[in-house]
Amino acid sequence: MYLAAQRESALIFKSIRPRASPAAFHLRMKSRILICNDDGIYSPGIASLAKVASRFGDVRIVAPDVEQSSMGHAITSSRPLRYRRTPLPGGFEAYRVNGTPADCVALGTYLWERVNLVLSGINLGPNLGSACWHSGTLAAAKQAALLGLRGIAFSTAVTITEKAPDFSQLEPYVEKVLELLLEKKELCLVNVNVPEKPRGIRWTRQAVKQYDGKVVPGKDPMKRAIYWFTIKPLEGEEEGTDRWAFGKNFVSITPLRLDLTDEKDLARVLALPITPARKARRKPPAKSTKRNSSR
Ligand code: MN
Repeated sequence: MYLAAQRESALIFKSIRPRASPAAFHLRMKSRILICNDDGIYSPGIASLAKVASRFGDVRIVAPDVEQSSMGHAITSSRPLRYRRTPLPGGFEAYRVNGTPADCVALGTYLWERVNLVLSGINLGPNLGSACWHSGTLAAAKQAALLGLRGIAFSTAVTITEKAPDFSQLEPYVEKVLELLLEKKELCLVNVNVPEKPRGIRWTRQAVKQYDGKVVPGKDPMKRAIYWFTIKPLEGEEEGTDRWAFGKNFVSITPLRLDLTDEKDLARVLALPITPARKARRKPPAKSTKRNSSR
């Protein structure tokens, strides 16, 4: 079953050349695509995603004015939000917002009516497994899903060098994934991770058994204690997970949901016998004391 599904995706992946499919043409006529990210509006990743998305519909970029990585799904409720038109290479209509990724999606879809699809990324760095809880890239897609829209997050690998990833090499793969996902309208929230040199696509589930966050202590120049919240490398990826696929150079596509309910635990507690509520012991009525005060 699992393998059959993977075979299907492998077949879809075979022809990587962009083609003008009837579906793409249909979508181009209809779609309004809002593009957001968490790396900030000047990130090369957002320009690359906008470029690919513009083949599928009308594109507008609304993104944070400064980097908001690892901000998760924060919203700004204690101060007002503003947006400013921002010239970007590629000539896309773009606005920068003094807020978080989720703010950008809320504001962007408020100001631009009838948005069909929200895309987020392409993030400079993968968003895999339990680390997804911190992701601002994914939060933008989640905000879309909260508003009843489709949201798809894109992230890629970065090497620790001065060089940004070669987005032009990734674009055919992003286009292929979009072609695949746009036809699957039932998928409302999707997390996509694209390795540097993909060799296929895998449908995956989130790797939740391990967590890569850790605190590293250090000293500032005045010898005072400081701490970095950073990541540690993980080993032993479980087959079928996003971390496993990405580690094997496959594009990982994970359908997600907003419902955090633990169904197993809920079923377990619902099956428990209902204990009768203890009767509240009645207190004897207090003796009335006359008050002198008049009202
Ligand atoms: Mn980021």
